[in-house]
Amino acid sequence: MARFEEAENRMFNVKICLKCNARNPPSVTTCRKCGYTGLRYKAKEPRG
Ligand SMILES: [Zn+2]
Repeated sequence: MARFEEAENRMFNVKICLKCNARNPPSVTTCRKCGYTGLRYKAKEPRG
């Protein structure tokens, strides 16, 4: 049962625009909202 893992992977499998913080599909290289090229993967927070 990897239900939570799947949810986490889905949740973190996005790129965040550094300009407008919009969530984008991991396959894109530019923000679909503002066109900015500065995208980063959403950082996975350490388990606490
Ligand atoms: Zn953007």
